[in-house]
This record gives sequence, structure tokens and C-alpha cells, in this order.
Amino acid sequence: MAFYSSAVTTETPCQAMAYYRLSKDDGNIHESDSIQNQRKLVHAYLRDHPHMELVDEAYDDGYTGTNYDRPGFRSVLEAINAGRVNCVIVKDLSRLGREYIETGKYLEMIFPSLGVRFIAINDDVDSSRHSSGDDIIIPIKNIMNESYCRELSKKLRRQFRIQRGNGEFLGAFASFGYCKSPDDKHKLVIDDFAAEVVRGIFSLKLKGYSIGDIAAYLNHQQILSPAEYKKSQGLRYQSGFQSSQRSKWSPNAVRRILENPLYAGTLVQGKRGTPHYKLKQMRERQPEDWVTVEENHPAVIDKLTFDLVQKLLRRDTRKSKGEDTVLPLCGVAFCADCGRPLLRRSVTRGKRKFYYYICSGYKKGLGCTSHSFEQGKLETAVLHALTHQIRIIVEMQAVLRETGVEDVNALRMKRLDVLIAQKETELDGYRDFRMKLYEALNDDLINREEYDKMRAKYTQLIDGGMEAVAELKARRSRELRSHSSDGLWLQQFARYQGAAELSREMVAALIDKVYVYEDKRIKIDFNYRDELACCMEILQDKAEEVV
Ligand SMILES: [Zn+2]
Repeated sequence: MAFYSSAVTTETPCQAMAYYRLSKDDGNIHESDSIQNQRKLVHAYLRDHPHMELVDEAYDDGYTGTNYDRPGFRSVLEAINAGRVNCVIVKDLSRLGREYIETGKYLEMIFPSLGVRFIAINDDVDSSRHSSGDDIIIPIKNIMNESYCRELSKKLRRQFRIQRGNGEFLGAFASFGYCKSPDDKHKLVIDDFAAEVVRGIFSLKLKGYSIGDIAAYLNHQQILSPAEYKKSQGLRYQSGFQSSQRSKWSPNAVRRILENPLYAGTLVQGKRGTPHYKLKQMRERQPEDWVTVEENHPAVIDKLTFDLVQKLLRRDTRKSKGEDTVLPLCGVAFCADCGRPLLRRSVTRGKRKFYYYICSGYKKGLGCTSHSFEQGKLETAVLHALTHQIRIIVEMQAVLRETGVEDVNALRMKRLDVLIAQKETELDGYRDFRMKLYEALNDDLINREEYDKMRAKYTQLIDGGMEAVAELKARRSRELRSHSSDGLWLQQFARYQGAAELSREMVAALIDKVYVYEDKRIKIDFNYRDELACCMEILQDKAEEVV
């Protein structure tokens, strides 16, 4: 690409426009970068170049150099388009912009094609000078400006990340159940009264009450809602809209409490933020980018109970009319043939009422058979299967302990970490090579066509690699979240050893799905199948070592 093909020469009289920019990014560090100083420098330069006439000046104060949507810069373009100016003067390249691709576009394409001369005084760039060296200097300078921006953005993010990573609470208000420590406003301590309410909410949920029922119960007991409680504590706080009435517990308020990992001692922050230093608006971040600190502050709810409630919440909790709680297998039992959920049906014979689970497809006439299973019998069958499974798992746990493998999750994580590291090294290699392509082009080692081809190829490889790394990282954080901490899932099973009847809590903890066949066979998918399979593999490896 010919860099300055249409550039004007020094002898031509110039109608110049000066452009100044002061960025918020610059902070107050460089006094020399103030608009006044930029202006002085440009005026001094013009005194030395009497053939240049200063037609206009424009400035942007407080605009970042990472995008070009700035009023001052727009007025420069307007002046060029109107033919009022044919020269743009700035103090240095970073005043024009700090973003390589966009800045390069102006320098390499837009200004030259409009016949506009461009001068960056301190960088000794003048597009009217034909010196072969210049066309390399400009892109390199620009890369440095861009990396400066990136560094700054990283630094700020790192700062917040460190604070969040230290488990410092950065929110404006502590959530219901906690208050900010009087000694350190970044620390959370338990608010005894509210914490008791939170514990009550979790316990009602475990018993099978719906969030609507819980809200109604709390209102009936005249327990202050979180918003009212804050008001009663004298905090200035307004929720989305105001009403003269006292705000009551809503099902959503109950759900928010039940879903908040804060109560299990986990602080999750950084859910929203700007995705990239070039973009300004806040976005929801991906869960793998949240900053999570476990065991950060005293827990109101133990982790097992918390995880259990999350499972219950994910399940269908529709209950039959006239029932206070949900049946143990509701939302868990499915027809093995059509895959639809089983519903409960009652049949009255004489004075007695019998309950059955039946296929909802059959009930609605959607062409399945009844799959009818008496409620008590199905629950007993499931309990038998569970008891058996628990026995196996408790045994396996003992064997694992004997063989010295206590930390199964850590082994799995280690494997994922190795995979991620491998991919990242590969990716760095591609990036490095792509960077070097430009040098190779400048050194005439390759021609433009080869450059374009190879660049496209490596860009593709990099994109693919980045996707793979992101996928692995997402998997890692998924697994991190799905396991409670090490071995806790094993304890989940042990905890229900010897249970005499099937409870909804137990089903939620241990069972994913129950499939019922027409011939009364049942098939159970237990929770933690991955973990179980992994334990089995580990035990197998150990067995082979012994042999
Ligand atoms: Zn069916």
C-alpha cells in the first residue's frame, strides 16, 4: 500500500486545523499533555512554518483515545469535507487516537485519499515528507499507543479484581442477613435477626413449600421485608419504586434470598462490567468471569443445604391442589417411553383414596399408555434403589480414603488445567507468528499476497484456539460450581444412610431423574454421575497399580 501517494508537499500553502485531546485516561499525570500545552506547542510550530495558516482549532476534553466518536474530532472531519482545511496538526500521534486499526485507517487511507497533510509534531511525522522510513514508524508508534490503553485498562481492572479477589465487599449495601462490619466497611458480618429469617426461609423450602407459600407465610407472620427492615435500621434506601404502603415479601424476594450464594459464605462480585476497554456500556458478564470467593465471610446457611435448595428450585414444584407440600417424586419422575413427566392421580374406591403416578401424555390423550404406578410402591422402590446406591458409595468412599485419594475433584481440575495451559501455549505461538508476519512483509521476505493469505490462516487458527480455551474454562467453572467443595458430594450420600422413608429433600440431593416403564421397571439417574464415574476410574487405576 502506498502510504502517502496523494500527500501534498511542503511548498504548497496549507490551511491547517489543529486538534487537541485530553483524555480521562491520562489522569493528571502529564501536565505537558494539557490542552493549553498542546496548543502552545502547535502555535510555536506554526510560527516556524509561516506558509501554514491556522484556520481552525478543535479539542476533545475527557474523551478516550480508544474510539473516534468525539465531537472535536468530528468537527475536524467536517472541516476537511467542506474543503476548509487540507492539513491536520496534533502534538503527537496518541492525541489522534490510541487504537491501532482505526488510527491507521485515518493515517493510511482517509487523510491521504482526501489529500490531507498530517503532522504529529513530537513524533516527527509529516505526511508531506517522502522518506521511506516514515511508513514503518507510524504503525509501530500506534501499536505502542494501543498497548498503552490496554495496559491502563488492565491495571484498573486488576485493581478491582484484587479487591474483589480479597473478598472485599464493594457493594453499596449489605444483603439482608448481613451488615457491614463497623470496623471495616469491606467486611460482612451476620445480622442475627435477619439471618434467623433467612434460615427460616431455607428450612421452609426444604420442607417442600413453594416460594409463593413462603412469601405468604412471612407476610402473615408480619415479618419485615428486606426493604422495610433496611428502613427500620435507618439506612437510606429506596427500591425501584416507592409506595405509601409498607412493602411486603414477594415470591421474587424469597427467590432472590434462596438463590444468593452469599448466605453460604460465598461472595460473588463483578457480575456486570464493561466487556472490553474499547467499549463503554456495562454488560452482564459470563459466570466464568465473575469473581467468586468461597468461605469469604461467616455463612448463614451451610453449603450442603444451600446446594440442595438450588436443586429444589430448578425442579418443577407444581403441587396438587389441597396439598401443602410437593410429593417426593414430583418433577423427578418421567415416563420412560414418551419422556413426559408423571402426574399424580387419585382414585376413590369405597371410602378409601388411592394415589397413582401416571404418564401426563396418557392423561392428556397424547397417545401414550398409562404407566400407572401406585404412589407408595413407587416411592418404596426408589428408596430401595437409593439405599443400595448409598451403600456402594459409602464403601467406595472408604476405599478411596484407604488408597489416599481424598481429593477427587482436585484430580479432575488438574487435568482440565493442563489442557487449558496446553491450548494457551499453542495460541501464544500463533499470535507470535502472526505478529512476525508484518515484519516479514516489511523485510520483503514475503509479498503482500502471501502476507494476506498467512494472516488470514493464522487469524483463523487464533479464533479457533480462543474458542477452545473459552470452552475449557467454562467447563472448569461449571465443574467448580457443580461440586460443592471436595468430597462434599460423597457426604451428601452418606448423610441419608439408613433413611426410613423417601423425603423430597433426599430425592433432590441424590436423584436427577426416575424413569418408569409400562411393565413397572424403573430406571434411576443419580446425581453426581460424572463424579462417580471419575471415582471408579481412579479406583481402577489404583487397582492396576497394585497388580
Ligand atoms: Zn408416556
